[in-house]
Amino acid sequence: MPDETTDGLLQRLAQGPVICAEGYLFELERRGFLQAGAFVPEVVVEHPEKVTQLHREFVRAGSDVVEAFTYYAHREKLRLIGKEHLLEQLNRDALQIAKEVARESSSLLAGDICNSNVFEPGNQASADQVREMFTEQVGWAVDAGVDFIIGETFSYAAEALVALEVVREAGLPSVITLAFHQEPLTRDGWSVAEAGKRLADAGADVVGLNCIRGPRTMLPLLQELVPAVDVPVAALPVPYRTHPAEPSFQSLRDPSQPANHRPFPVALDPFTCTRNEIAEFTVAARELGVSYFGVCCGAGPHHIRAMAEALGRTPPASRYTADMSKHAFLGSDSSLRQHNLAFGSKEL
Ligand SMILES: [Zn+2]
Repeated sequence: MPDETTDGLLQRLAQGPVICAEGYLFELERRGFLQAGAFVPEVVVEHPEKVTQLHREFVRAGSDVVEAFTYYAHREKLRLIGKEHLLEQLNRDALQIAKEVARESSSLLAGDICNSNVFEPGNQASADQVREMFTEQVGWAVDAGVDFIIGETFSYAAEALVALEVVREAGLPSVITLAFHQEPLTRDGWSVAEAGKRLADAGADVVGLNCIRGPRTMLPLLQELVPAVDVPVAALPVPYRTHPAEPSFQSLRDPSQPANHRPFPVALDPFTCTRNEIAEFTVAARELGVSYFGVCCGAGPHHIRAMAEALGRTPPASRYTADMSKHAFLGSDSSLRQHNLAFGSKEL
């Protein structure tokens, strides 16, 4: 029974913006089911129900896509923690968990590959190794019947091109997003416009930016990227208050922190964007022409709901969007007690 919910990614993008919640690593770390540092999503096999729950919360908040939690579930990360034997099971389980939530909610199902931390420019052996890593993960995603593949958080554009080739060989639509650190250049020295154009020319269906930069320092890069490409543009910032002097969330400094004053990754709380800031970013990015939205590391469902509402939607979680009219001290409802309102206007 075909309806609009069965449309693929590209058809949905032709009709309007698409939201894809990311940021599972940080959220499950905060909830106590994932270790910061190696950041390997063992939670998929150790507490699968927690991953299911988070997928559901993000869909309820407005995500149109359930992205399998295979970020950092690649061979290099599993090697690092001595658990390469879990690689295939972890990937297949993550895809199955995401598929279940996608099917129950008529959301799109996305596979995910990411920065390998193996890629080294000019080193063909590393490029070959990366290609093998991507090929095995994309193969498992194909087996699971994903609607498209996300290749994300690439700071080397050349590595993103390898990911794109593998996805195209599998015959699936691709969303390829780059990660810019302090310099407005990829680690191989390409500007955002050049990198985006080369990815689009190589056949990426959606190109964009994810992770590392918060709303304020991602917007100027989007301004360069959108006019440089003729494909839909993606924007998935981290929800942190980065600024021109400290443009990435790793470069943020907090004088109240010990040692090097670096709050990344587990003491970023005081820098967290409010939901209103995420809404403002969404409106600004939409005006620039961005059509694929999300929030990366640090995102909570309230950020995704704010994003959805800024795009004019009312996802199920909007049932509980703030309404202060009946607040005892700050509200406007005519039945509220005057002595409390008077107290509120003076003392709150
Ligand atoms: Zn991220």
